[in-house]
Amino acid sequence: MATEQLYLQSIEAGYYTNFNATVISVEGEKVALDRTLFYPLGGGQNWDTGTLDGPNGAVTVHEVRGRGTILHSLDGDHQLEVGDEVKGSVDWERRHAHMRMHTAQHIVSGVVYESFNGARTVGNQIHHDRSRIDFNPISLTDEMLLQIPETVNKLIDENHKVTDSTMTRDEVNAVMPPDRTNMNLLPASVRDLRVVKIGDNIDLCPCAGTHVRELSEIGHIQIIGKKSKGKGTQRITYELQIPQVTPTSISETI
Ligand SMILES: [Zn+2]
Repeated sequence: MATEQLYLQSIEAGYYTNFNATVISVEGEKVALDRTLFYPLGGGQNWDTGTLDGPNGAVTVHEVRGRGTILHSLDGDHQLEVGDEVKGSVDWERRHAHMRMHTAQHIVSGVVYESFNGARTVGNQIHHDRSRIDFNPISLTDEMLLQIPETVNKLIDENHKVTDSTMTRDEVNAVMPPDRTNMNLLPASVRDLRVVKIGDNIDLCPCAGTHVRELSEIGHIQIIGKKSKGKGTQRITYELQIPQVTPTSISETI
């Protein structure tokens, strides 16, 4: 049985941290729920952590993985059984850091593509403290490493809105070059795509991650490293500056 992915319902859903659910399977420390706000490792974005509070008290969720059925790995002797009702709580600081980092990744990838001859994003890893993106083909100079944050931070300061919608492949391809959106990496069987858009097509790409609703929440990016990965691929590592404002809706239950 598949898990309903509550975090994917809208950009706004990323701001919820509490939810109620029912246990649908238990295998050792791994527990699946009928619905969850916990983001599982995927698309380069790390998993959410938090707690599940059931009939025998709260237990820590230390890892979340899976597609279709999402498995929450729990600490200790959780004693949860199929049919138990639980209240889930996602760690907000980590979740919001991922949202900020991930949205920043979209902007950086778009800016690099547009600025440097269509250099593609060929990999990314989104963590709460620092993130990295691999580009190909590219040969990053000091000047380019200054230009990237300057352009990205200007867009952040313009505080564009981030929205999501469902689009077909043809609709996405009509707006953005397939190279830029990495459309070829999506299985051909997937027709309707969850698409995340920044401003008026400043960036648009299919993505199932969590994102902020407006760019000012990101804070400025700072590039802290560059590394060659061979065959024309180079990696940049970035951090985010300026603490974000805590939104007000996070304690509501979805
Ligand atoms: Zn994304």
